[in-house]
Amino acid sequence: MLSEVSGFGGDGVNVPCVFCGLALSYETVEADRKDCGGSYARTNVQPACRPCNLARSDDASLTTCEVLDRVARTYARTGRLTPALAVA
Ligand SMILES: [Zn+2]
Repeated sequence: MLSEVSGFGGDGVNVPCVFCGLALSYETVEADRKDCGGSYARTNVQPACRPCNLARSDDASLTTCEVLDRVARTYARTGRLTPALAVA
């Protein structure tokens, strides 16, 4: 997803999150599935940062603004960009 040929605006080192535009590296990029019920095939994934990927969750119908609104509401509520994960 970081390469120029992937079509996501990457330069081989960084690629922007498709939702917020944050520059992501190999260590920080996550594969967000466009069709949440589909596979992780190249045609069904897009680069996303952790907060946006978690905010979008399994709801592919969310617009970019709705994803960013979820991130903002999580931050306002918890002081974190991502919700705390339950630990068993
Ligand atoms: Zn993002």
